[in-house]
Amino acid sequence: TISMAVFDRMGSIAVGTSTNGATFKVPGRVGDGPIAGSAAYADSEVGACGATGDGDIMMRFLPCYQVVESMRIGMEPKTAAEDVIRRIRRKYPDFVGAVFAVDRSGVHAGASHRWDFQYAVMSPEMDDVQVFTVRPQINVE
Ligand code: ASP
Repeated sequence: TISMAVFDRMGSIAVGTSTNGATFKVPGRVGDGPIAGSAAYADSEVGACGATGDGDIMMRFLPCYQVVESMRIGMEPKTAAEDVIRRIRRKYPDFVGAVFAVDRSGVHAGASHRWDFQYAVMSPEMDDVQVFTVRPQINVE
């Protein structure tokens, strides 16, 4: 899955997602990409989230909705991202997946499980895209 959050000059945030679906694709499968709150979610008053990984597991948690709602009540993006990975892992210890979280001021973070996850950031002030690598969480209960 490629999930993306875009901020316009007025502070509106939009998200989109496209999935290759290759790993989990069976005929008729919808997957997590088109499910609002699963692979992507945004609220311009709060921030945004994108997810990738085992969609059939992750969609059960609406992880991106969870991340945005956690930020709404005050969690930092990093804490919110790690929290949702922990929630999924508690029920599905073997899942592979990751999320990025970004708040409306542009503070961003990622969290992943069983995967070195990379996400990229670009803004008008930057000369080039910056790539961030997120190592899997290990100290999760
Ligand atoms: N989340 C996608 C799916 O389950 C797969 C992916 O992340 O590439 O279809």
